[in-house]
Order: sequence, then C-alpha cells, then structure tokens
Amino acid sequence: MKTLFLICLLTLAYLSSIAQAETPVDQWKGKTILLIGAHPDDDSYSQGTLAMLQDHGNEVFIAILTSGNVGTQDPALSMTDLANIRLQEELGALEEIGIPADHYINLGYDDGMLEYENKKEVVAKLVRLIRKIRPDVLFAFDPGKGEQRWHKADHRAASYLAADAARAAMWPLLFQGQVTVEGLKAHTIPEYILYDSAEEDKNTWVDISAYKDMKIKAMARYVSQWSSGWYKYTGPELSEEEQQKVIERVSKRIKYVDGKAVEGFRYYKGLPDNIGR
Ligand SMILES: [Zn+2]
Repeated sequence: MKTLFLICLLTLAYLSSIAQAETPVDQWKGKTILLIGAHPDDDSYSQGTLAMLQDHGNEVFIAILTSGNVGTQDPALSMTDLANIRLQEELGALEEIGIPADHYINLGYDDGMLEYENKKEVVAKLVRLIRKIRPDVLFAFDPGKGEQRWHKADHRAASYLAADAARAAMWPLLFQGQVTVEGLKAHTIPEYILYDSAEEDKNTWVDISAYKDMKIKAMARYVSQWSSGWYKYTGPELSEEEQQKVIERVSKRIKYVDGKAVEGFRYYKGLPDNIGR
C-alpha cells in the first residue's frame, strides 16, 4: 500500500514537472506582464522575450526597485547624476524593444541598499502595483536555488521581495487599506517567468532569434554600464568606434542553443506559495 502511494506520488511529481516545462511563451497574446527588477537594466536578462511579448500583443510593464544610483567607477558622477543617466538609458532601452515610457515604474530606492530598506514598506508598494496592474505573468529574479548562495545583494533582495509581494497581493486582509480605502482588489498572479535562475533549474528556453538585434540595441543603450563610461562617463553619445565596442561587448551576452539565440528561464505556474520550489 505504502509502495503504491509512493508510485502515485512520484507519477504526480513527474507529470507536474513536465507541465512546468511546457510553456508556449511564443504563443502568448493579450496577457498583462509585469517585470520586477532591482536595477534599471535587470530587464536585460529577458529583453528578447519581452520584445517578442510586446510585439505579439501583450502589455508589458517594468518595475525597477532602485534608481541604480551607485553603479559606476567614475568619481566625477554623483548619485543624482547617475540616477538621471540611468533613467534615460532605461527609457531608451525600453524604446528599442517597443515598451512605452509610461509602462516604466521606478520606485527610487538607493542602489546597493535594497536589503536594508523597510521590507514591509517595499512589499506594500509592490503589492499595490500588482493589485493595480493585475498581471497574468510576473517576471522576477528567481528566488530559488540560485539565490541561496551569496549573490549581489539587491538581486537577492529583489528576488525575495517580488515573491513576497506576489504572495501578499492575493490576501485581501494583508495591506487591507489598499482594498478598503483605495478600492483595489486582491490579485493572484497565476504564472511566473523567473530569470537569472541556476542553470539546472531552467526549464524554458525562448527562441529570441527574431528579436536578438532589438535586445542588442537595447543593451547598448546602457552606456554608463557597458562602455568606457563605467570609468569615465562621456555619454550618452559615443564615438563610432566606442559604439562598436559596446555592441560587440553586449553581443557576447547572447546565449545560443543549437545555433539559435535563446533566453532561459524557470517557468512556474500555480499559487505563489510554491514559487521557490
Ligand atoms: Zn542588477
């Protein structure tokens, strides 16, 4: 009896693992997508997929937690300078992949400090956003195995904060004022595309061949991050030679499987309670 139970359990686990892997992202239409990231370039993990989703008639929103205001080695830049530069770079990158500027939300936290912010406040803001946008799919840093080791602090924090917010958004008695005073409704996000996953956890590979050039152009807009501007910012315009170098550098970030440009993710469908499994 015990053996039979075990066999049933293993069969169920096997079937559910298959179901998790079969995700026709390229056939998605009419979905509302929300991406939560830590820095104003974290969407570059999935910009090929986002360009495709936008092109296929889905509505894509990008919410970034920090302004990216410390990501430089140029001593001449202030935090305010860099926040402004990175806002413009992000809007430029989103333009390259067809996402309108009014679909970009930046919560303005300090870069590098996300982990030390008031978690309840950050989650409340994300929950409000989820309840307003009511996404069908959440793109977020994978709060799974990859984030258990030490990891860049803001990415680690963003992975947990996004999952915590997805979970809280479905309970009307959590952050109840948003429901009773602001008139928002609780919302359960049914599907998740988790990026920057541990390689062995990836179960979905999206062919981005048709959107590869858009992704490269988008990534090349992060002049303060990918050009010599990292040490001495002279952008946003670059010399022809420097521009070419940036294109070459970001092109190397494109991953290929069987000769096709791809982006790999851990796809999860179900209640947010089990996102981390
Ligand atoms: Zn980042």
